[in-house]
Amino acid sequence: MSTPSAVRRPAILSVDDDPGVSRAVARDLRRRYGDRYRVVRADSGQQALDALREMKLRGDVVAVILADYRMPRMSGIEFLEQAMDLFPAARRVLLTAYADTGAAIEAINVVDLDYYLLKPWDPPEEKLYPVIDAQVEAWTAADYRPVPETKVVGHRWSARSSEVREFLARNQVPYRWYSSDSPEGERLLLAAEADGRALPLVVTPDGEALLEPSDAELAERVGLATTPSADFYDLVVIGGGPAGLGAAVYGASEGLRTVLVERTATGGQAGQSSRIENYLGFPDGVSGDQLTDRARRQAIRFGAELLTTRDVVGLEPTGSGRTVHFADGASVSAHSVILATGVSYQRLAVSGLDRLTGRGVYYGSALTEAASCKGQDVYVVGGANSAGQAAAYLARGASSVTILVRGTTLETSMSYYLIQQLAGMDAVRVRPCTEVIEAHGEDHLERLTLRDNATGTVETVDAGWLFVFIGAAPRTDWLGDLVARDERGFVLAGPDLAPDGGRPAGWTLERAPYHLETSVPGVFVAGDVRAESAKRVASAVGEGAMAVMLVHRYLEKL
Ligand SMILES: Cc1cc2nc3c(=O)[nH]c(=O)nc-3n(C[C@H](O)[C@H](O)[C@H](O)COP(=O)(O)OP(=O)(O)OC[C@H]3O[C@@H](n4cnc5c(N)ncnc54)[C@H](O)[C@@H]3O)c2cc1C
Repeated sequence: MSTPSAVRRPAILSVDDDPGVSRAVARDLRRRYGDRYRVVRADSGQQALDALREMKLRGDVVAVILADYRMPRMSGIEFLEQAMDLFPAARRVLLTAYADTGAAIEAINVVDLDYYLLKPWDPPEEKLYPVIDAQVEAWTAADYRPVPETKVVGHRWSARSSEVREFLARNQVPYRWYSSDSPEGERLLLAAEADGRALPLVVTPDGEALLEPSDAELAERVGLATTPSADFYDLVVIGGGPAGLGAAVYGASEGLRTVLVERTATGGQAGQSSRIENYLGFPDGVSGDQLTDRARRQAIRFGAELLTTRDVVGLEPTGSGRTVHFADGASVSAHSVILATGVSYQRLAVSGLDRLTGRGVYYGSALTEAASCKGQDVYVVGGANSAGQAAAYLARGASSVTILVRGTTLETSMSYYLIQQLAGMDAVRVRPCTEVIEAHGEDHLERLTLRDNATGTVETVDAGWLFVFIGAAPRTDWLGDLVARDERGFVLAGPDLAPDGGRPAGWTLERAPYHLETSVPGVFVAGDVRAESAKRVASAVGEGAMAVMLVHRYLEKL
């Protein structure tokens, strides 16, 4: 693996087609600058361009480029012209023979040359170093720093670009965003030899270029675990929200061999919350990101394995074991399972909206998109706390945030503290009794048609941004008939399985199901996916911990 660019020195690159000269230049440069700069040499313009492309993708910086004027396939000027597209800030020096001075002077205009150096440059102390010293000094004054983290080049109206940013942010992977039409974005595309039609381009800290990567590909390349290290565990936790992370922390800390399997990124719904105000121990509130990051680290410290981008699509009792199947056909088994799959946002069924999702229309990704909405008019649909939190967060930068609510007031659906907070924000406006009935736009959202249900008035407004928070539903169809669920798909457990005090259908054990145990012995449920759950972070975490306690009780009697 290459050295991370954070610790790599800036480069000085020299190119000359005569290997003897090329070596001699590099040797002289190393002697004087080798302790502070990496001296890279190439024997042709093409080879030098390849090296520069690689350096661009790795996030390196180049201080000075020296090129010989007379090179057979690509002249020094042609080379510098292309090098400039990749590293415009690098100082450019042309090595010329006396006879070529005229051409060198012309090049000053073509490639904005900083200096031309006559060959031979002996003794270097007199002819070479003073020139390069001056270039290095000028370059240092401009303060060009390397970008060591992952780089994403995308377009704000590209749905996949937006998903990739959300995925990286939710997995706490630091990244730098470049619009594909910004100068540095164009340079990165050039370095990756991409034409910008397929976006995003993701460049890893190692300099690897990935075009339109899948979540699984990204997870692997940025160092997130995706594959279980063993075939059999004491406990498989499905879902990495607060309930799943809680279960992983308690399971692993109490000595259970624990693996957590998450479809996208850990944090669940809580990870999308800008500020959780009611979680015990955080009097000033805590962001979903912070809480997730701490919980992840805590689970890993206790020895839990956390897998991301693995979608669970099947559960099967295999003797006393329980086997969990992944979408790609792989599987993992354990003595026990905790279902912590939470709920997912419901889609707003409005004409034109699906096509524009990720292109101005977002479900729950207010945190990632907030910076792009700066100074713009934003609409939020929903009347519950999640909509209120998103509106408050977006109002920090947007010029206006309009909350569209179907009901007559927010009071029945949103916490009092949040309503007060929103009332004190000049940019926020609430439109009760209002529904979106149509979305319009070609490449991205441009307008919304709204209906006022109190008056029947219909109007079309200019709108580039719409965030939807209209309740959520469990996605538990993959459990089929194996695990008993209520009519909305929430998983039944403990006393809710047989309210008359009897045993659930198919239950073969003498004892009744434990409190959070489902209709399958050894399969437990925690958090929002459980029927009649509280739908709060604290209760999800608490249920995760409690489910682990019941797993112990189950294992003792196995
Ligand atoms: C924007 C927002 C703000 C909120 N603010 C607050 C607040 O301030 N206070 C509060 O108490 N509550 C708040 N809530 C509610 C709170 O976040 C939830 O109650 C809590 O996250 C539920 O946790 P959970 O682990 O049960 O489920 P979730 O958080 O829904 O997590 C479930 C996880 O399981 C994963 N998953 C689902 N299916 C599969 C599968 N088949 N295979 C693998 N993985 C799967 C999902 O990707 C997800 O990561 C908020 C919710 C939202 C959306």
